Amino acid sequence: MHRQQVPRSVYVHIPFCKHKCYYCDFNTYAVQGQPVSDYLHALELELHQTVEQLPPGQIDTIFVGGGTPTILDNEQMRYLITMLEQAFPDRSPSLEFTMEANPGTTAPDKLQVMRAGGVNRISFGVQSFQNELLEAIGRIHRVDEVYESIEWAREAGFDNLSIDLMFGLPRQTLDNVEQSVNKALALKLPHYSLYSLKVEEQTLFHTWYEQNRLPLPAEEEELAMYRLIMHKLEAAGYHQYEISNFASPGKESRHNIGYWCNHSYYGLGAGAHGYTRGRRHVNVKGVQEYIAAATAGLPIAEQWEVSREEAMEDYMMVGLRMNEGIHQAAFREQFGVHVDTVFASQLAACIENGLLERTITGFRLTERGRELGNEVFAAFVGVHV
Ligand code: SF4
Repeated sequence: MHRQQVPRSVYVHIPFCKHKCYYCDFNTYAVQGQPVSDYLHALELELHQTVEQLPPGQIDTIFVGGGTPTILDNEQMRYLITMLEQAFPDRSPSLEFTMEANPGTTAPDKLQVMRAGGVNRISFGVQSFQNELLEAIGRIHRVDEVYESIEWAREAGFDNLSIDLMFGLPRQTLDNVEQSVNKALALKLPHYSLYSLKVEEQTLFHTWYEQNRLPLPAEEEELAMYRLIMHKLEAAGYHQYEISNFASPGKESRHNIGYWCNHSYYGLGAGAHGYTRGRRHVNVKGVQEYIAAATAGLPIAEQWEVSREEAMEDYMMVGLRMNEGIHQAAFREQFGVHVDTVFASQLAACIENGLLERTITGFRLTERGRELGNEVFAAFVGVHV
């Protein structure tokens, strides 16, 4: 059986936003009229039951995501932070406590509440430095609010800041991307995440796409955008440690690295995923349903034992996302077999196609492999090893 770990990471989901962006398929709802306080009480109930059933050890990373956690008012924010403090009192001295934030929902006093409560890393959903593009994708903020939020965060004492940018947006040009990246780099932040737009089902963009009303850049253009991003970030001294993530040394997101290394974690909140004691679970999605479920017991919608085979596939799929790739010795330690025995044909095919390369310690994506990541990951799924 694969090794089971005591979770050292916590994910908490806040499923509210000002309104829904046109491309977003996350479990989040326009906040107006939502029972936010009831949701927080339900979250507290889930927390109590969870730590009672699986007492935590020392916590190394906490990530509050969404949604828009900074949609909470100051009192709700304090309440959330306090319940986390009470549930997870034993924290590593180097705890990484990240909160996602969106420009347009932060204010100096709210950032101070977060800082005073131990949050020490903020990931801002910026997406673009062009107002027309922000409007075209349904974001609520404008570019001046990005600068304002970052300045306020710095004033509140945050130095570990990250921003998300998107490429492959409708009507976005290579020039637009270059300008956004230049503006992002001028902020001299320790971390940047760059994602390409995926048109997901049940989004407004999907409807427009079906109606031929979504003028997306051509595939080659999107590839050129990704290459430009990699080039500019690396030239500015950031190292790409994962397909979409770039950091100054030591500023990689430890929480996300935990996911990519298949470590276990508590997952709390509506629709949240968790991975504990060799089992994955997903919580009830809807806000009202979640509140009702958490009042009656653990609000789990589905739970399943991760088989050894599934764990090996996950290991490859998420491990290869990281630029250093996967380590043969770590794979052997976790599963008791050699990776090249288990995945011999998949590895050989990917190497032959120039998507993977051998390193001294294991395997990693080539530059072409990073560009065609999904093709590589698909090779390791459902192979029934
Ligand atoms: S702010 Fe983020 S989570 Fe909220 S709707 Fe927009 S993309 Fe989705």
